[in-house]
Amino acid sequence: MSATTLSNSFTGSNDTALIIPNKTQGLTISYQQLSSEILSFQKKLAKLGVSPGSAISIALPNSYEFIVSFLASAWQRAIAAPLNSAYKQEEFEFYIDDLSSALALVPKGSYQQDGAAVRAARKYNAAIAECYWNGQEVVLDIKEQGKLKGKGNQKVATAEPDDVALVLHTSGTTGRPKAVPLTHRNLTRTMKNIKNTYELTPKDRTMLVMPLFHVHGLLAGFLAPLYSGGSVIVPPRFSASEFWDDFITHKANWYTAVPTIHQILLKSPPPQTKPNIRFIRSCSSPLSPTIFHQLEKTFDAPVLEAYAMTEASHQMTSSPLPPGKRQPGSVGIGQGVEVRILDQEGKQVPQGSEAEICIRGENVTKGYLNNPEANKSSFTKDGFFRTGDQGKQDEDGYVFITGRIKELINKGGEKISPIELDNVLARHPKVSEAVSFAIPDEMYGQDVGVAIVVKSGERLEAKELSGWIAERLAKFKVPKKIYFTDNMPKTATGKIQRRIVAETMMKQDK
Ligand code: ATP
Ligand code: MG
Repeated sequence: MSATTLSNSFTGSNDTALIIPNKTQGLTISYQQLSSEILSFQKKLAKLGVSPGSAISIALPNSYEFIVSFLASAWQRAIAAPLNSAYKQEEFEFYIDDLSSALALVPKGSYQQDGAAVRAARKYNAAIAECYWNGQEVVLDIKEQGKLKGKGNQKVATAEPDDVALVLHTSGTTGRPKAVPLTHRNLTRTMKNIKNTYELTPKDRTMLVMPLFHVHGLLAGFLAPLYSGGSVIVPPRFSASEFWDDFITHKANWYTAVPTIHQILLKSPPPQTKPNIRFIRSCSSPLSPTIFHQLEKTFDAPVLEAYAMTEASHQMTSSPLPPGKRQPGSVGIGQGVEVRILDQEGKQVPQGSEAEICIRGENVTKGYLNNPEANKSSFTKDGFFRTGDQGKQDEDGYVFITGRIKELINKGGEKISPIELDNVLARHPKVSEAVSFAIPDEMYGQDVGVAIVVKSGERLEAKELSGWIAERLAKFKVPKKIYFTDNMPKTATGKIQRRIVAETMMKQDK
């Protein structure tokens, strides 16, 4: 039978499931050990009072304890809500309150230090427990009982496919983050889709570099490889200086990351020993064709670009493995997910035309939490989810993202794609990073602004850059304003938030 819950998805044999590298004392965990550790942690949660439907905020960095507590929570029919452990108190408060979390898991030592997550959890009366590996087992050390007081000794539950296993918030690129509930069925569908796309087998080993508190790291970097019976190497965080060392020592053969990380790795390529890379997956932000080619050349591996979002439990499309076709600039084809380009009325546009990318599949959330308005506008009558991304498909079904509907620059009715501008700017030999966005304009309503990071040691004048655009794109796309900066604002996952970049740059005008 095909697995539809996280409880029956990891049937790998006794081979290595996880490798936790550590300079002094690493950890290698077999599938059998992992399963029994999860079960024993599930029992600890039940004993503490976690019942089906309780939300658990997991404020732990990438680690064995994150993995065990996340899966144990799902097995217990609870709702795991992973959070960036580097958040400030106000951010923790928003997320803990939004889900009325019953329990917050924090790293060892946080309680004594009265860390930000601890203070936020206390404010909303969530139970607080430290969670860590003591060399023998993953410990659940309860510090405050909060809402769980008097609820102890729950039954050990069995998850159902339509239980919500996970709630994550969208990145908040276009507005306030939205809470997305994902069921076991949604998640296992993506796990299968990713396994099929990359033909993952127990022989594959991946280096996890993305954080586990977003779908990219959680689904593509961790759950799908485990579902395929392979091994996952889990360093505590991405470190450019240690990446290749771990990759080669532990015989990894693929990784998935955002373009920012690929760019960092291009600057610190592997030492003498050449790693044997089966493929490199890029996802979550646009990969410029320049970086695509540099990656393929430097690492001698096919680069497969994927397109994903929280609401789809991560992956929607990807380029296939060779001999399948890859096209730089395209995010590939639907992978176990139906893709259609629909207009505002939900009608399919002629092939090749630009409109909203819409998707349908078992991986897609049933709807946002507490957000009836967004739910109403996000689905078409026949159940297609509106991604909010603008794009087109070529005759082979390859998807090209041309922008975010909310981020298109509308210059007096002319729609300008910021992604198109970014790509042309990124090709300039002196440009290291470029982000385009709308700026208010009296005459046109909106005009084009761009933020530029110049390569170190180079000098670049605004005039030269405007000329570069004018030679390559229609005149109305030439930026009205060019902001030079040393520091492009990004999210924790390396995502560019155009809205934030625009706000930060425009502050300079004041
Ligand atoms: P919010 O919905 O709160 O505005 P967000 O959409 O950035 O935030 P996520 O779910 O993390 O939140 O990101 C999904 C979005 O990321 C997609 O809708 C798309 O715009 C973008 N994206 C994902 N993969 C790619 C890719 N390969 N190329 C370009 N953009 C991508
Ligand atoms: Mg979104």
